[in-house]
Amino acid sequence: MSLVVIGTLAYDSIETPYDRRADALGGSALYFSVAAANFGVVRLVGVVGDDFKTPDLEGLANRGIDIRGVEIANGKTFRWSGRYEADWNTRHTLDTQLNVFEHFDPKLTPACRDASFVFLANAEPRVQMKALGQVQNPSFVVADTMNLWIDIRKDDLLELLARVDGVVLNDEEARMLTGEKNLIRAARKVLTFGPRYVILKKGEHGAFLIGEDAHFSLPAYPVDQVVDPTGAGDCFAGGFMGYVASAQSIEPRTLRRAMLYGTVTASFCVQGFSIEDIGKRTRSDVESRFNELLDITSV
Ligand code: AMP
Repeated sequence: MSLVVIGTLAYDSIETPYDRRADALGGSALYFSVAAANFGVVRLVGVVGDDFKTPDLEGLANRGIDIRGVEIANGKTFRWSGRYEADWNTRHTLDTQLNVFEHFDPKLTPACRDASFVFLANAEPRVQMKALGQVQNPSFVVADTMNLWIDIRKDDLLELLARVDGVVLNDEEARMLTGEKNLIRAARKVLTFGPRYVILKKGEHGAFLIGEDAHFSLPAYPVDQVVDPTGAGDCFAGGFMGYVASAQSIEPRTLRRAMLYGTVTASFCVQGFSIEDIGKRTRSDVESRFNELLDITSV
């Protein structure tokens, strides 16, 4: 499979209603690549500081992730900290330290430039565009973003959206970006910005995909114990893009199945802190939960 992801590798500090973790492995591209690795080789592009632990990088490589695009720069790794309310849906960002990511100038390896499938994980839109500009002939490009960039880099983000095939947004981001309260109207408005597809994630309420030739809605997999929702969106995208890239198709039927794979990988992610759960899952775990989800959503 020919899939590349550009975004953050991080150390996160997380507080949930029940527990907390400091300096846990995270980052938008890191979560994505761990989730997508169940479907084939994913090439990871990003930057870490010289404080990034060697075993953490080795762990990614051991999962089959191509880490040759990860630059090690002088300084500290990107750090993010957040706190969840008891409803799990409300998240407060307590601190974001860009550190080495502040001056990140992505330089793609020849293999990354050749990729057909590209995921621009959450990062500053200018960095996302700089990376995308280096991919020679991508066939399917999907971007993620967050409230911070909608707030402070909206013009850059709109420029990016005009250049991608798909965008993944959560409900809050879609409303913020469009000013529309109703999520279907919000998604349709996002389509007018350029992408052919919008994937809207609604946390425990599931996700839907909307585009000119596709409309598909799916509930979340019912997880009986959520431990840490951090990275669920990135893992959803990793399962979605991993499947699409392995199938080498963007037919509506493939995209529908990809939504199921996204839902399944996100459900593993929330069962543990950081990548503790998703990081140990195999393709066979993914397939059995895929079949279970298919079963419980069919009539
Ligand atoms: P998610 O829960 O899917 O929204 O992703 C959470 C991950 O995004 C965490 O591991 C963070 O390290 C990372 N993250 C948080 N803020 C940013 C940001 N401004 N840019 C890029 N990545 C971020």
